[in-house]
Amino acid sequence: MYRRSERLKAMLKGLRESGLRLTPQRVAVCEVLAASRSHPTAYEIYRRLRRRFPTLSLATVYKTLDVLVRLGLVSALGDAGDGMVHYDGDTDPHINLVCLSCHRVQDLESMDVGDLYQQVVARSGYALRGARLVYYGLCPECQRKTQATAAEVN
Ligand SMILES: [Zn+2]
Repeated sequence: MYRRSERLKAMLKGLRESGLRLTPQRVAVCEVLAASRSHPTAYEIYRRLRRRFPTLSLATVYKTLDVLVRLGLVSALGDAGDGMVHYDGDTDPHINLVCLSCHRVQDLESMDVGDLYQQVVARSGYALRGARLVYYGLCPECQRKTQATAAEVN
């Protein structure tokens, strides 16, 4: 399991080796991804950094994300029922849970999926670059809200 600082270091190295200049903006995008557990969208990263970097453009965020995803240093998780791609700076195999109602994306920490990963390698012969394990449904909070609404109606 990579720690945050190691993940950040790998991202910065990857950008540099891809020929991108390590501008403060690009470094900040990597920092958000390495530190965040909330699986942000490109726009959320942009919004989070806009105040610190008024000249930051959404295109810069996308370009940085593209390179990191291509290098296998960040996972593009696809949308969470909100039509937006969510990004994960943790590329170790793990399970993501997506709520289709509030669009949060969480990690399920306690499950070890390393065995599954190794089995896929053994059976497919692929040199894997990562894994996306996305389970989706309604989070406990949204289930409670739905039940509360139903009770009010009755
Ligand atoms: Zn929810």
